Parts: sequence; C-alpha cells; structure tokens
Amino acid sequence: MNPINFFKDLGFYTKQEENKKPLFLLGLFVVIAVANIVFVPGIITVVELLAFLFIFLTLLASYRNLLRASFQNKAKNLELESVIENVKDGVVVYDTNFRILDLNKATEEIFNISKEEVLGIQMQPGMTASPRLRTFVETIFPSLASAINTVSDAGWPKVVDLTFEDPHLEIRTSLNQIADQSGKVVAFLKIISNNTRENTILESKSEFLTVSAHQLRTPLTAINWTFESLKSSLLKSGEKIDPTITNLVDEGWGLAKRSLKIIEDLLSAAKIEEGKFGFNFVETDLMEFFKNIRQSAEVVAQEYGITVNLSGGGTYTVRIDPERLGMAVMNILDNAIKYNTKGGSVNILVEPEPTDRAFVRCSISDNGIGIPKENLPKIFQKFYRSENAQRVEPNGSGLGMYITKNIIESHGGAIHVESQIGRGTTFWFTLPIIQR
Ligand code: ADP
Repeated sequence: MNPINFFKDLGFYTKQEENKKPLFLLGLFVVIAVANIVFVPGIITVVELLAFLFIFLTLLASYRNLLRASFQNKAKNLELESVIENVKDGVVVYDTNFRILDLNKATEEIFNISKEEVLGIQMQPGMTASPRLRTFVETIFPSLASAINTVSDAGWPKVVDLTFEDPHLEIRTSLNQIADQSGKVVAFLKIISNNTRENTILESKSEFLTVSAHQLRTPLTAINWTFESLKSSLLKSGEKIDPTITNLVDEGWGLAKRSLKIIEDLLSAAKIEEGKFGFNFVETDLMEFFKNIRQSAEVVAQEYGITVNLSGGGTYTVRIDPERLGMAVMNILDNAIKYNTKGGSVNILVEPEPTDRAFVRCSISDNGIGIPKENLPKIFQKFYRSENAQRVEPNGSGLGMYITKNIIESHGGAIHVESQIGRGTTFWFTLPIIQR
C-alpha cells in the first residue's frame, strides 16, 4: 500500500473515540525510544533505534489492521441495528428466562407498548392480567393465546399464527434460537408479522367472490335448464331442423354447463377454505359406487367420443360420502375425457393397494395430452391450469383437482398423479377399507 494512503487510513481509524487510548500508549513508546537515543548515544543506540523502528512499523501495520477490523465491526453492528429497527416486522430478542433483551419500533407499534415498559423485564405468564401487556405477553407465550394455529412442523423456526380480539390483531410469529460459539442456546429471536390488514382484505375479497358466485348460480342454472329443454324439444319435434340451429343450441348448452361447473367449483373451494365443506359418511360397496359413476360419465364420454372402462374384482366396503366422493371422481374422469385425444379411452381400475392391504387403490388412466413434468407438483394447487390444457379447453376453473384432493384426504386417503406428455395421465387415490 502507498505510505501516504497508509497514514491517511491510520489517521481515520485512530480518530474513532475508542481507539485513542492505544494510540496514546504507542506515542509513549516512541517518546521512550527518542529519550533513549538522546541520553544514551553510541552505536548500540543506533542499532537499538533501527530495531525500535522496525518493531514500531510492524506494530503500526498490525495496529492499523486491528483498527480497521474494529471499525468495520462497529459499522456492521450499526447497520444491523438500523435494519432491525426499521424493518416492517416486529423483532423481539429475549433470553432463556424470557427476559426481554431488545425489541424494535415495529413491535412497539404492533402491541402499542413502549420499549421502556418491557426492556430488561422477565416476562411471566401472570403478566397477561395487565390489559396493556396482554397481547405482547401472549405472543411471547403463544400457548396462552385463545386462537393459535401452528404452521410449522417440529424443528426451527417455530411458526405460529395468533389471533387476538379487542383490539383485533392477526399475527404470524417465527421463533428462532440464538446460540453462542459453543452451540449453547443463549437467547431467542421472534419475528412478528402483522397480517391483520391483509387478512381482512382477503376475507372481504373471498366474501365478495362467494356472494357473486351465489348470485350467478341462479340465472346460470336457469340458462342451463333452458338450453336443456330447447335441445329435448328439438329432438322431440321430429321436424327437420337447420343444423346451424342445432349446433348453436348444443354449443350454448355446453357453455352453460361449463360455466355452472366453474361457479359450483368456486363455491365448493370457498366452503373448503371456511371449513364448512361437510361430509355425510355411509358404508358403501366401492365397486357399486364406481358402476354408477361410470354410467354418469357416459354422457360426456359419448359427447367427446371416448370409451370408459371399469375393471378390477373383489368387494371393498368403504366409508364414504357418495355425493362428495362422486364429485371428486367425476372431476378426475371429466378431465380424463376432456384432455383426451379423439377416439381415446379412459380406464378405471379398482384393486387392493399393493403396499398396504388396509387400503384400496383406485386408478383412472387416460391416453390423452398429458401434463408437462415440471407442472405436476402444481396440479393440486388452486386455480392452476397448464398451458397445454388451456389450449384444448379454454374454459375451466383450475379448482377441480384442489377440491378432489381435499375430498380424498377427508376420506383418509391420498391422491397422486403421474403423466407423460403426449402419452397420457394416471391419477390414483387410496381409501381405507372397513376391516371385518
Ligand atoms: P380445470 O380442468 O378446470 O382446468 P382442474 O383442477 O380439474 O381444473 O385441473 C387442473 C389442471 O390439471 C388442468 O387445467 C390440466 O392442466 C391438468 N389436468 C388434470 N387432469 C388432466 C388430465 N387427465 N390430462 C391432462 N391434464 C390434466
């Protein structure tokens, strides 16, 4: 390094308040060296001077490095403090005895408390008696809160959602451990996100969606019924009808049916989210159930020129809600028919689950367009529709598989999918068998 820069650098770091003491000692060291030369002249002193000079320069170089490291550390700490202080989320640090070591501005705002009220104070469950501190204390001890929902699995960070009434507050907290160099946990850091506003907006959005879907269902049912009646009147009339008119009626009826299905899907998805999607379980012979389903799918299958086969022997007694499970299977079948190729087929196979005889496995395979491999993990997500499917069928809610997964899981089963693009898709799900 250029000596001028070196000394400039040194000058800058030594101006920091905490560095002045070591610099004073270094100055004293120089004074002693000079006094030595003045009062004890001779060749030994010259050698001593050179040795001192060398030691001095070496010390100076490492001192400068030390100063630089200390300055950088200080700057980093300040930066971190300012980040924590100014982040949107609340941050609270407390030791293993729940003594509050630090908290930021956002925490003060979320809980409407001041830092001075809690800093250095050991939090105790009994403090929930104080109306001012109640929500803050319950956030430190989530098990005391009345509405708690654990989001994360075992392990760290521990994420929980908490809801408080009066004042209404919906927060998500993420608890992390702080360990010392030996790995011993010395403190905890809790990050608090205030989701009250976002959740309220989401709730009102979904309420709006549900109300709109309800409003649309009545006229759409009427339109559907009108097209259905029109179609059967045309068939019954026995007169020769202009094909353009028959096609228009068919198209209109098809669109009305699809739109009604989208509305029904929206309402079902909303019910699932609100936890109001009830089930009515009854003991059922699964093969009989599938025979009825196959028959119901026949109308759509004929419309698309697809054959639907049912195979598999045996008797499986299962506890199902025939209406809900029927909806799930029809969703899978409907897709297997809709996303098939002309003249294709759909095969339903019912067999014992190969890996666990307590379950029955139901597979529905088609030889249709398939699902791109990278899209497979998203198939059961809400509103997901892959591009190739949208090309084949522009209308669709992307909710069918989300609802289906929920129904199967509510029956104690699991659903899977495998597919090859251009070759076909297999959805299979399991159901627990009633053992006699
Ligand atoms: P929708 O059929 O209304 O688009 P779904 O939730 O029923 O919605 O299906 C989600 C997506 O999964 C479809 O858009 C399509 O991309 C894909 N998918 C489901 N079943 C099949 C299938 N048998 N063949 C090809 N793609 C399918």
